[in-house]
Amino acid sequence: MLTPAMTRETSQLVHLDSTSPEAGSRKPFFGLDATALSTHLADFGEPEWRGRQLAEAIYHQWITELDAVTTLPKPLRARLREAGWEVGRPRIVQIFRSLDGTERYLVECQERNSDATPETIETVWMPEGDGGEAGEDFDFDEDGRRQAQKVWSRATICVSSQVGCAVNCRFCLTAKLGLQRNLTAGEIAGQVVAVLDRQGVEVGRDRVNLVFMGMGEPFLNYANFMGAVRLLVHEVGLSPQRMTVSTSGIVPGIETFALEPAEARPKLAISLNAPNDTIRGEVMPINRKWPMEAVLDAVRKVRLRPREHITFEYVLLGGVTDLPEHAREAARLIRRSGLPAKVNLIAWNPGPGIPYTMPSPEVVESFRATLVAEGIPAYLRQPRGRDIYAACGQLKRTVEGAHQN
Ligand code: SAH
Ligand code: SF4
Repeated sequence: MLTPAMTRETSQLVHLDSTSPEAGSRKPFFGLDATALSTHLADFGEPEWRGRQLAEAIYHQWITELDAVTTLPKPLRARLREAGWEVGRPRIVQIFRSLDGTERYLVECQERNSDATPETIETVWMPEGDGGEAGEDFDFDEDGRRQAQKVWSRATICVSSQVGCAVNCRFCLTAKLGLQRNLTAGEIAGQVVAVLDRQGVEVGRDRVNLVFMGMGEPFLNYANFMGAVRLLVHEVGLSPQRMTVSTSGIVPGIETFALEPAEARPKLAISLNAPNDTIRGEVMPINRKWPMEAVLDAVRKVRLRPREHITFEYVLLGGVTDLPEHAREAARLIRRSGLPAKVNLIAWNPGPGIPYTMPSPEVVESFRATLVAEGIPAYLRQPRGRDIYAACGQLKRTVEGAHQN
């Protein structure tokens, strides 16, 4: 669903240069950590510290062409290229920009589909500026990097973990695509670095949050998802405390996640979306495999950091999950779980062929107020936040529509 700020009239579609000619036959360095890079460079007779040098170039300096990695000797670069290696960072190929500064990207993956066409995924940048930036246009240089003064004080990047999704939640657009394929760790982390680069983010200084809430179920692509987190933490230098992963409730994934060391573990969000197993089983068939209590048992195994909360996301479906008794029942469930929790309410975004209705703003607000009265902190995702969910299967359609004009 497009929010008003994202309609064709108010948005700007930017086309960038697309595929490189040899793409597909090349091997990407992006996605390998410094140790793995060292191992590959050892095949070329290079000492171990060369791996660190290359990691510095691709994860700190954000260099995208092997030829520009001048810390590596020129003959080595040539040999690497001949052997098929490239930096291979996913590339932003199209940008859909709203007047409020939100940008949605088509990002081209490293790995080609079986028919050699490039796969594209969706990533969203949501600046939460001080309000003074609305309608302001930014200057970008030839490489698409922002030149103007930063107008946001903090921002959020919404990251995809799979192309499509196999989970089949009844209200979700991504479900309609089915699972096309898993993303690699490099493709997941690459979305983030491509956006940091475009926005001129200064890691360690700027407040940028990551939410793994784009297309896909991260816990059904666990190794690659956590591989990406480790790259982003250990190589790029982002804080895991500014990352949140959302799951529909994949119990084995949550149990493995509970064992991750705190220094590379994002915060956890659970898509609750209903007050009891009956309704949840209807809107999220996965609940029949892993019912609510099994999910909550697994979540209780996560050792939380001081002051850390579990977020419960709750999509309000008109007449189905948004009644006052649902709010009271959800509050009871969360209280009984004993977890330090907060609820993020999301008014459902409609999509073609999906048989639900949007709740009215009054219903949304009264649902929130009921949760709060029951002692559960509850927040409403603002329309900008909804853009995340609009990205569930709709960005490509939007872009195609714009092409035809
Ligand atoms: N697969 C993961 C993460 C991606 S979905 C998960 O389900 O948690 C991120 C969030 O978007 C989930 O909380 C999901 O319930 C919500 N969502 C999906 N479709 C939506 C829609 N049409 N409107 C509003 N929220 C939606
Ligand atoms: Fe997959 Fe999440 Fe959509 Fe469910 S809500 S179909 S788990 S992306």
